[in-house]
Amino acid sequence: MRLFSDYHSHPQGHRLQPYSQALLQPWITAARERGLTDIALTDHDRYHRGVNFEEIARLREGNADIKIRAGIELDNDPVHSPKGRRWVEENWDRLDFVLGSVHCLRGDWAFDHAGEEAEFARRNVDEVYIDYYERIREIAASGLVDCMSHLDLVKIFGFRPTRDFADVFDATLTTIQKANLAMELSTAGWRKPVNDLYPSEEIIRAAMAKGIPFTTSSDAHSHFQLGENFNRLSEKMDAIGIREVCIFENHKRQPIGCNG
Ligand SMILES: [Zn+2]
Ligand SMILES: [Zn+2]
Repeated sequence: MRLFSDYHSHPQGHRLQPYSQALLQPWITAARERGLTDIALTDHDRYHRGVNFEEIARLREGNADIKIRAGIELDNDPVHSPKGRRWVEENWDRLDFVLGSVHCLRGDWAFDHAGEEAEFARRNVDEVYIDYYERIREIAASGLVDCMSHLDLVKIFGFRPTRDFADVFDATLTTIQKANLAMELSTAGWRKPVNDLYPSEEIIRAAMAKGIPFTTSSDAHSHFQLGENFNRLSEKMDAIGIREVCIFENHKRQPIGCNG
């Protein structure tokens, strides 16, 4: 199966860098080199001031062979995300695609930052997972997202709950299904301490049973990471039996078969 789309990328990386052709073109060049033909730019909402729709339009003009989607990764960051949500509402019609994410837990804890293993070790991991999936359901039901990113990011450092969480996963997937959202398969988990696809095969199979569609993504914070480990992802999808991925244009979802 040939994967052709990467729907999670951060041209601005980890700081505000206003969109320009100099910033964006290397991403499209990298996509072309890797045989990717459909790319979503999804910077963190805290850097929404750097997103420039005119620059995206120019980028499209210069790269007609690649579909370039205007997107954002909407977070639950307590400081910036209220502004991010407003920005998404105001720019909804110019955006193709909005990812929904949870990076902040109780106590404004940015749990996925490097070094947060120590805080995981201090906390009750079952409670951390409960808190995480409550926030996931909130974002999923917000009406402001098209797709959920890295659905089990909470496993990033390998801390696992002590009980079976199938009931929580099921409730979460039901919320996602009712909101008619897609879910990404993210290779980013393979470069994190947990070394596991986001989400786990257990969650993927439960999502398939509910008819939830998938996107493919790398969560690249540098163009060198675009499409990272997509061969491995393709093999995994083959093994699980996923035969199509979806793409988005102005929030309209379309399934595409990945045969051949
Ligand atoms: Zn994220
Ligand atoms: Zn991201």
